[in-house]
Amino acid sequence: MTTIGNNLQGVRVRIATACAQAGRDVRSVALLAVSKTFDAGAVREAHAAGQAAFGENYLQEAVEKINALRDLPLTWHCIGPIQSNKSRLVAEHFDWAHTVASLRLAQRLSDQRPTGRLPLQICLQVNIDGGANKSGIAPDDVLALALQVARLPRLHLRGLMTIPEPQPDFASELAVHRRSRALFDAVTDAGKGEEGMARFDTLSMGMTADLEAAVQAGSTMVRVGSAIFGGRAPARQPG
Ligand SMILES: *Cc1c(COP(=O)(O)O)cnc(C)c1O
Repeated sequence: MTTIGNNLQGVRVRIATACAQAGRDVRSVALLAVSKTFDAGAVREAHAAGQAAFGENYLQEAVEKINALRDLPLTWHCIGPIQSNKSRLVAEHFDWAHTVASLRLAQRLSDQRPTGRLPLQICLQVNIDGGANKSGIAPDDVLALALQVARLPRLHLRGLMTIPEPQPDFASELAVHRRSRALFDAVTDAGKGEEGMARFDTLSMGMTADLEAAVQAGSTMVRVGSAIFGGRAPARQPG
C-alpha cells in the first residue's frame, strides 16, 4: 500500500478506536480528507485507498484539482474562507460549503447554484470559543441564521462547523467540543418541524490533532489533513 493509503488506514483506526471508547457506531463519524496544498495525484492515491470525500481551502487550487479529477466519483467540501466575490466558484464546483456565516453569502450561493446540480450542502461556521481573528458567527446567532438559510431554495442546510483554538490537553479539547455539540443539539431541537431543518444532521469538528476529543464529544464529520497527506508548507494566501 502507498504511504497515503497506510496513513488513511491509520486515521480510520484512530476514528474507530475513539468511537469504541465513546460507545458510538463507527458509521456515525464521516472522514473528510483535507487535501489542500497536495496535488491531484495525492487525491487519486487516497481515492484508490477508498476515500471519496475531500476538503479544500484555497478556491483557485481547488477548482483546478476538481477539474483534473472529474473522472473519479468524489465529493468536494469547501472548508476555507469564502469571499463574496468568489462565491460563484464554490456554488459551481463544490458539493458542500462548511464556512457559511452570513445570510448574504448563503443567498448568493443559493442564487448561483446551477440548477442542473443537487443543492449545495451547507454547514454554518460557528466561532465557538470567541477566537479573536476567526470567522464564524457567535453561538447566540446560530439558530436565527439556521432557520433563514434552511429556507433558501438551492441549498440544503446540513449542520454546523467549528475550528476551536488549539488546546493544551484532551480535557480542554473535550470541553470546547462539548459546547459545540450542545449548540448543535439545541439548534436541532429548536428546528424540529421548521422548513428545511429535516436534514440538519452534521457536526463538522475535529482535525488531526484533536479528532479523538471531537469524536468523544459527538462530532459527525472529522476533517483530517496532515495525518493523511503529511505536513504542509506554511499557509498560502486565501484565494
Ligand atoms: C487545514 C484544515 C483542516 C485539516 O487540518 P490538519 O491539522 O492537517 O488535520 C481541517 N479543517 C480546516 C478548516 C482546515 O483549514
